[in-house]
Amino acid sequence: MDFFNLEKLLKTTAINKNRNMNILLVNPLTHSLYGAEYEDVPTISRKIALKLIEFPRPIALFLLVALTPDEHNIRIVEGKPDDIDYDVDVDLVGISFTTRYAPLAYQIADRFMERGVKVVLGGWHPSALPEEAIQHADSVVVGEAEYIWPKLLEDAKNNKLKRFYIQDKPVDVMDIPSLTSIFNDIDVPIGIQATRGCPHGCEYCAITHMIYRNIFRARPVEIVVDEIEKLPQETFIFFDNSLTISPRYTKRLFKEIVDRGINKKFTCFGNINILGRDEELLFLSNEAGCVAWLVGFESVSQESLDSVKKKTNVVKNYKSAVAKIHDYNLFIVGNFVFGFDGDGLDIFQETVDMIKTCEIDVPDIMILTPLPGTPLFRRLDAENRILTYDWSKYNFENVVFQPKNMTPEELLINSRLAFKEVYSTSNIIYRVAKAFRFSMYKTIDVAIRNFYLSKKRYQKT
Ligand code: SF4
Repeated sequence: MDFFNLEKLLKTTAINKNRNMNILLVNPLTHSLYGAEYEDVPTISRKIALKLIEFPRPIALFLLVALTPDEHNIRIVEGKPDDIDYDVDVDLVGISFTTRYAPLAYQIADRFMERGVKVVLGGWHPSALPEEAIQHADSVVVGEAEYIWPKLLEDAKNNKLKRFYIQDKPVDVMDIPSLTSIFNDIDVPIGIQATRGCPHGCEYCAITHMIYRNIFRARPVEIVVDEIEKLPQETFIFFDNSLTISPRYTKRLFKEIVDRGINKKFTCFGNINILGRDEELLFLSNEAGCVAWLVGFESVSQESLDSVKKKTNVVKNYKSAVAKIHDYNLFIVGNFVFGFDGDGLDIFQETVDMIKTCEIDVPDIMILTPLPGTPLFRRLDAENRILTYDWSKYNFENVVFQPKNMTPEELLINSRLAFKEVYSTSNIIYRVAKAFRFSMYKTIDVAIRNFYLSKKRYQKT
């Protein structure tokens, strides 16, 4: 049976609780590993990849399962609108989604609403545009849900759902539920969240501009490491916005993993400049099982970074910082974005050159996408530079706004060309060959990530 078959996921994510309400949580998606379309990725490759690298589902849905009182029956499904069984016996449907999935989520929500099922929407997109989302739902949860969800379920049971639910304070880290209680009931990969929030306020970032998400909070190290210890997977990802916001905390976290003798492999997000100057952090991350840091370089133009208030990146330090990370036997998944107001037509080749010079192991190239709820979206909207409100196009592969120093076509075509050059067969082979200096495991990991990313973007051009 295909891994992504919905029936299997229905079974594997079913949590047996004594029935009161039947609750169905939906993860709407069209994409599988690293965004490649299901049908574009051979089943055998998917199965191998799933054994080797993390492929976690959004943690929000698992948190809702953990927050749901035992009296209810709750399960998770995922897929396109036509994959969903709308005749399933269900009292309440919850859908969490980001902007690119909004059209899918609304289709699913509408079809359940037509059947008289109560629908609740939450996640990044509904939190940014609650008035839009409520047109497809009974209720919209804005922001974090820890203090709201049990109350919302009580209201749903009593047919007293409110239109909007918003917490009046940020979640205390002690109130973020542990996921260990549901680990035995699922066999899809799951990520770990040690911290929440980022205070840096980059103009384009949806995370830092969601309510309370500009407040950095770190969960107690012991609780996080308990979760890691009990996690059924051997590989996982830290779903934190950045594990370099508090290097002191992260070092304690990594030390605890080492002290307990946990032998799992993981990846995590971090800032290039912090990593480049904190060798103790790099050493401990390697000791704890980190295989790669996921780094948002965003741009090789300091002017472009400054234009979006990305104050944490210093371009002139990129090369030495990457070399330092490599010195500690860690590879880098590096993210680059085209389309900032500081970008001219020379940015494309400069970025390709930087990726090669720095020897970024798994480079990704995206097109700037102004997500609703961000200052970038509001600014471009106010300047009449938003070209489409078709949210399905907000997938970082289309141009949805008028760039400042080039035409939308120039931005799109040059991004595709840069990606093609970076992902030419010879460049992929070079990166994989270089990865042999790390270990066989990491070489395979680099190869798989390169393979899937090469299939992910602009593949229809
Ligand atoms: S540093 Fe990263 S997570 Fe923090 S605001 Fe900037 S882009 Fe968002």
